[in-house]
Order: sequence, then C-alpha cells, then structure tokens
Amino acid sequence: MYGYDFRDGMLMVNPQEAAIVRMIFADYLSGMGRNAIMRKLIRLGIPTKLGGRWAENTVASILTNEKVVGDLCLQKGFIADHLTKQKRVNRGELPKYYVEGAHEAVIDRATFDAVQAEVVRRACKCKPTSKEPRCEFSGIIRCGRYGANFTRKINGIGTQYAKANWACATYTTHGKEHCAAKRIPEDILRQKFAEALGSNAYDADDFIARVAAITIPEDGVLVFTFKDGTQKTILWEKHSRRDSWTDEMKSKAKDAAKRRLGNG
Ligand SMILES: [Zn+2]
Repeated sequence: MYGYDFRDGMLMVNPQEAAIVRMIFADYLSGMGRNAIMRKLIRLGIPTKLGGRWAENTVASILTNEKVVGDLCLQKGFIADHLTKQKRVNRGELPKYYVEGAHEAVIDRATFDAVQAEVVRRACKCKPTSKEPRCEFSGIIRCGRYGANFTRKINGIGTQYAKANWACATYTTHGKEHCAAKRIPEDILRQKFAEALGSNAYDADDFIARVAAITIPEDGVLVFTFKDGTQKTILWEKHSRRDSWTDEMKSKAKDAAKRRLGNG
C-alpha cells in the first residue's frame, strides 16, 4: 500500500509517500482527474512503490483505499483455488471485516469522505442523461469546507415554479451533518457573474470564456477566479433580519421585553 511500509506485521506510515498521498487527495479535490494526477506524478519523477510506471488505476486505488484513513477491510480477496493460488475478489462469498483505526491515518476522515463523494459524482458525470444537460457551472463551483463540487438540483420539477439550485456534493450525498453549506439559486450565479463584470446582462459564453472557478468560502460569499488569474469576491445573501439589527435595536428590544415581564 502506497503511503505505508509493512514492518513487523504492522502498517507504518512512510512519511515521504504519505506527503504524496496528501498531494493526490488535494489535487483530486481541487478538480484534477486521475489522469492529470498520474501525469503530474510522472512529471515530478515520483517513484512508485514497486518501481514501475504510474497508472491511472494506481491513482484511483490510492484515492479509494480505506487504509489511508487508518481503517482496514479484511478479506477483500481470497484464494479461490489452492492448487493454482489464483486470487479472487471477495464479492460476498466470505465475510468481510471492517476495522476502524487499525493504524495511523495519513488522510483525515472528512477529506477522505469528500473524495469518495466526488469519485461517485464524477462516475455519474461520465454517463450524461438527457435530463441534465451539461451546464456552464458544472465542475466549476467548489465548496470551501472540504472542496467538494457543487452539483445542480432542480426543485419543484414539473411545475411552473421549477428552479435550478446548486448544492455541495458532500451535503447532497452525505447530508447536512457532513457539510452544512447552503444551496445557491442558479439565477443568483448568473446575476452575480454579470455584477462581477460590472454588466447587467448575463452571457453563458462569456462565463465559459472567463471563469476558471467559483469557490464558496462560506454561505453568502462567491469568490470568482478568472482565467486571467484575478479574483473577485461577491456577496449574494441578504443578511438575515437578526444580523442587521444594531446593538441599539437589540437593547431596545430587550428593554421592551423586560417591561412586558414587569407589567405582567
Ligand atoms: Zn461542502
């Protein structure tokens, strides 16, 4: 397993390889594909575990191997024929054992989970459906929490109120407890891109030509990174009523509440 050495029956972290594993995870979450990561590893002259050449599948197996978070899945494969020693993948023929925290992790669980969600999301993207045409925002919007992409969701499908929103893939796949990033209406993305350019009309081709990424560091904030390297931060969310209250308004409300209690 890349990132570890097997010593005295134990998986021990190999610091140089662990750093490469972290780079691979970060690159994947930043939007690089398995092929681009493979080419980067070759370009940087990073040796593989057994001295061979990096392959896309090796990158894929590192990205999805539970060992990097310190877990072990035992009996993933078994010897099907003891004469030929032929090995087979265990597809439920034998029990599997999952051990959490079996050894030191090189990737934190949140990052690992975000990558697994992203692997699933990208696998889905390879088979485009007629329902969801590719759109200029696909693969462009990234959540600031764990770096997952935002994906398109249509709410109120089949009604005149149908509305496209963009939501974090970690939130969509794993739920609010994994990422609480708020969804963004698509019309807001269009409107705010026009605003970032100081224009009042939105043009999709212009968006594709100019925008490299949109990151969402927190709810209500859009950071546009343009292909020329410049960035622009745009706020879109109206402050909630409570946030816009001044201290004076708050103390007046408190006094009013006290008076009501006193009279009652
Ligand atoms: Zn998120």
